[in-house]
Amino acid sequence: MIIVMRADIPENSPELRRVVGLAESFPGIQTQIHRIQGATRSLTEVYLLGPTGVVPQAPFEEFECVEQVVRITQKFRFIGRHGGALEAVGFEYNDVRISQETFHVFAGVCAVDTREHLETTFKALQRLGIVTTRAGAYKPRTSPYDFQGLGATCLPWVFELAGRYGIRVVAMEITHESHIEEVRRALDQAGQPTGVMLQIGTRNAQNFELLKVAGQQTDFPVLFKRGMGITLDDSLNACEYVASSGNRRIAFCLRGMKTNLGDPHRNFVDFAHVPVVKRLTRLPVCIDPSHSVGRRALGPDGLLDIAHATAQGVIAGANMVLVDVHPCPEKALCDGPQALLLEELPAFLADVKIARDAYERRLAQLKVLPG
Ligand code: PEP
Ligand code: MN
Repeated sequence: MIIVMRADIPENSPELRRVVGLAESFPGIQTQIHRIQGATRSLTEVYLLGPTGVVPQAPFEEFECVEQVVRITQKFRFIGRHGGALEAVGFEYNDVRISQETFHVFAGVCAVDTREHLETTFKALQRLGIVTTRAGAYKPRTSPYDFQGLGATCLPWVFELAGRYGIRVVAMEITHESHIEEVRRALDQAGQPTGVMLQIGTRNAQNFELLKVAGQQTDFPVLFKRGMGITLDDSLNACEYVASSGNRRIAFCLRGMKTNLGDPHRNFVDFAHVPVVKRLTRLPVCIDPSHSVGRRALGPDGLLDIAHATAQGVIAGANMVLVDVHPCPEKALCDGPQALLLEELPAFLADVKIARDAYERRLAQLKVLPG
């Protein structure tokens, strides 16, 4: 059971203590208090843990200070919406607000290769007003003989360049818990020029120990990518490991499913799940059209398959787009064939804006037209 306190009730108030006192008076019930910072208000939620089935809702609903009492109906209790009753408040990180309402394009390189390529990329992003990027330093590759990423050695200049070109958030995959410390140390040494969102890749979607460690720290938000060969439900339960370990600043990323039924795309695009994840969870939803489609195929209409897939996710309400670009894809050490050219980025962003505007118009229309 989750008790949502009224927004004006402070964390250390006697009202909150009374609610907690009542909850803990039921046999075997323990409480956890969570403070969630929303765009305009902060919320306090009291989670009742233990045999809550026999705890009645009514006595809590009678408190003036309680906004609502919600029964937990999903196994993923922290990220779940439990029948739509709970708000999806989102989070703010390094001046970037990420929620089920906001929208950001994280354009960047799949893998950091050279300083020159990265600087050229960041310069282009700055010209286009983009402050969110992706940059892989630790790459989980199918073959041990493929480029594994530059690792910690590139972090000082990746962060320095990010700061220089106004990047606020870098989505960066980690594949081992030690990488969190490496990122933290490099950011400290560089004087915190930028922020990092820790990406858990699809190959680690059920690496529960890594998920727990990413959840035990709260310095960095987490971008959780769904598992490519497991059900959505399994992915949501895996994502819950991050939230239940303490970190609620999570975005959930759709990146396609591995099955030959999606051929000729690299993965079967699953962006029809954008509204599903928004309905089932409180998390902002990201789409990764680059790893879903995996190739720069051009439709007869002149639009890339990657652009079509992006538009499908964006018009369905995606909150983030993770897209691979590279100044020189033929020289990229990882996933060059799916990278957009930097020259293609302005047209891509204009196309994305059409889809986002269309999504907003769809919502506006709901308000004026009946049924
Ligand atoms: C990536 O984004 O670089 C990546 C490896 O993605 P995924 O985990 O979705 O394959
Ligand atoms: Mn990649």
